[in-house]
Amino acid sequence: PVLSTIRHFREEYEEHIREKKCRAGVCAGLVRAPCQSACPASVDVPGFISLVGEKRYADALKLHRERNPFAAACARICFHSCEEHCRRSSLDSPLSIRGIKRFMVEQEMIIQVPEVKENAKNAAKKIAIVGAGPAGLSCAYFLARLGYKPKVLEAAPRPGGMMAQTIPAYRLPREILAREVRMIERLGVDIECDKALGKDFTLESLKQEGYEALFLAVGAPDGLKLGLPGEEAEGVCEAMTFLRDYNIRGSVPVGRNVVIIGGGNAAIDAARTAARLDAESVTVLYRRTREQMPAYEEEIEEAEAEGVKLQLLTSPEEIIVEDGKVVGIRCKPMELGAFDRSGRRRPVAGEDADFVVPCDQVIAAIGQRVDLPLLTGSQSLNVQRNGYIATDALTKATSQEWIFAGGDVASGPSSVIEAVADGEKAAAGIDLFLTGKNNAFWREEKKVGTFFDPDADPVSYEREKQPLIPVERRRCNFDEVEQPWDEATAIRQAKRCLRCDYREEVHSW
Ligand SMILES: Cc1cc2nc3c(=O)[nH]c(=O)nc-3n(C[C@H](O)[C@H](O)[C@H](O)COP(=O)(O)OP(=O)(O)OC[C@H]3O[C@@H](n4cnc5c(N)ncnc54)[C@H](O)[C@@H]3O)c2cc1C
Ligand code: SF4
Ligand code: SF4
Repeated sequence: PVLSTIRHFREEYEEHIREKKCRAGVCAGLVRAPCQSACPASVDVPGFISLVGEKRYADALKLHRERNPFAAACARICFHSCEEHCRRSSLDSPLSIRGIKRFMVEQEMIIQVPEVKENAKNAAKKIAIVGAGPAGLSCAYFLARLGYKPKVLEAAPRPGGMMAQTIPAYRLPREILAREVRMIERLGVDIECDKALGKDFTLESLKQEGYEALFLAVGAPDGLKLGLPGEEAEGVCEAMTFLRDYNIRGSVPVGRNVVIIGGGNAAIDAARTAARLDAESVTVLYRRTREQMPAYEEEIEEAEAEGVKLQLLTSPEEIIVEDGKVVGIRCKPMELGAFDRSGRRRPVAGEDADFVVPCDQVIAAIGQRVDLPLLTGSQSLNVQRNGYIATDALTKATSQEWIFAGGDVASGPSSVIEAVADGEKAAAGIDLFLTGKNNAFWREEKKVGTFFDPDADPVSYEREKQPLIPVERRRCNFDEVEQPWDEATAIRQAKRCLRCDYREEVHSW
């Protein structure tokens, strides 16, 4: 049935092209594969997958890095929205695009630099980027490819943003990130750490120093407070500080019985970090159900496998304090009520009595924020209703002509690949602002050679999972949990692709 459905799909596809009287490749609705359209950075997914299928791993990675400098990081931590739109899922299950990517990046021994168009005029222009997270560094990468030599100013002691500060090393080993940051530096990008906007310099001072354009990419670095009585007690902190202290300073106080409040990825990262740092018990309190947790299901499953307990439909009401230290949390049991505006059933107070969860550490992971007035000073910028910076969707320009902004500081807390995409748009936007032209050559479509034979039957292999290290090997260390496939598995998986972007005139690259 799978094969006949695929044939049916192909017939429909060809019929569509005939009907529209357009040659394949000029019909806007069919030009891009759904996976590529769903990737915020527009990575050429079918292209790199087909190159992996041909064992042309270096070419595959080069094609990928045309749109995303953080291929190796994203191979580990991308939320892979591409897979949610993979057409193969209407037949059996989506391609494991991230899994194929992981195998691809493992094949790179010496990191390659992408195509750069040297340009003395551009190199002489002063461009500042504030924040060395995925948004700032991607902007620097694409500007450097146009011959600019941007300066990146970063408040933390190390570049990488959340990828270095909060995403745990068991999901993203730091040497993998450092390699991709070094690749960006090799393009002529100067990153200066320990330089904080609002403390060591201001937007105004950069303007006075002669910077002609600026990309503001400071993310949403602060954790939200709980707003509960008792939260100033010793032993209460928020997840951003907890994770940052461990990942940047190398140590963080961990209680014996730790409670994390929240249901997102930051809550699960904090819980799994505390479990690795030998807390006796780690409990995640969440006021909705498990299905409603914003954290990724695989992450929740792994947290549970590592001993983290979930206490669901539970709302924290008060931090109980003795001698200035936290000793427990008074909680209210919840149940599901009517649907709210997010389309989820709202948790409402249940009938049962409040109860206490004893603990000696509370970590709040209920959201993030950024203090914009503190950062922008006299160069105030228009903001959206949600408080984040208002930007042009295509160029990331702000209400101040010379300032561009992107990543979490403009979108609100989002994802690495959204930040990468914003960085790319800002680079093209800044170049347009400075030169009046669109020079983003990497956006030109590449036509890749392909193993794909339109008359061959598609393979019927099932989607496979990536191997994980056993749970007993995860205690007291931050070794990477997810492992890559072997070559045979990766190629088998690559060949599941239907090449939804297939066109007659496919040239070799
Ligand atoms: C715990 C956690 C886990 C996550 N897990 C994932 C995941 O698995 N996959 C995924 O795709 N996304 C994940 N995210 C979201 C993702 O990390 C962010 O959306 C992304 O990093 C945003 O990129 P950015 O460049 O806009 O900001 P950031 O990554 O926050 O980088 C901003 C940079 O600006 C610097 N900065 C801040 N203030 C100043 C200042 N005043 N002066 C100079 N520099 C400053 C910061 O130090 C930082 O280096 C996670 C987020 C968190 C908090
Ligand atoms: S970067 Fe993420 S969304 Fe884009 S193709 Fe890779 S896994 Fe998919
Ligand atoms: S089958 Fe291949 S080309 Fe089609 S959506 Fe999935 S990954 Fe993309």
